[in-house]
Amino acid sequence: MRIKFDKPFLDRNHDSLKDVLCAKGFKSTRGREIILKEVETRGGHFNAETLYSGLRQKHQRVSKPTIYRTLKLLEKLRLVERFDIKKNCFYYEPLLHTEEHGHLICEECGRIVDFAVGDFNTIKSDVFNKDEFMLASLSIRAFGLCQECQKAAQTAPGET
Ligand SMILES: [Zn+2]
Ligand SMILES: [Zn+2]
Repeated sequence: MRIKFDKPFLDRNHDSLKDVLCAKGFKSTRGREIILKEVETRGGHFNAETLYSGLRQKHQRVSKPTIYRTLKLLEKLRLVERFDIKKNCFYYEPLLHTEEHGHLICEECGRIVDFAVGDFNTIKSDVFNKDEFMLASLSIRAFGLCQECQKAAQTAPGET
């Protein structure tokens, strides 16, 4: 499955994930450092499996449990956003230094496509800047069928 991503997401003048974790008091292990670096350099949406095979290609040995644990930690700290595509199919995207954007998610193949949604701050101040609700994060997701899956659905005759 190919995930398209066409813009750089990391501003290298800013802190790295490692810096953020250190500032929050998490100690740095070798495995964790390798994973953070890979998350930062690959950009776009990824899952634990693509992360794992990406690291293997670079001959970086990190166990899958370490990857799962680190992703969980990043998610908890809101440094990555998690997308639940299907049962037991999660994708992640780094939130650090990314511009806020919405996501089109194909329910058939799991493809995730970014789309611009204007200024999140407008939504935040219009909708949530009221005392009743303290907003922690905002996520805009649209679900449906991508172009390829639409084509595939059309060419498969008579199937439900
Ligand atoms: Zn699709
Ligand atoms: Zn995205």
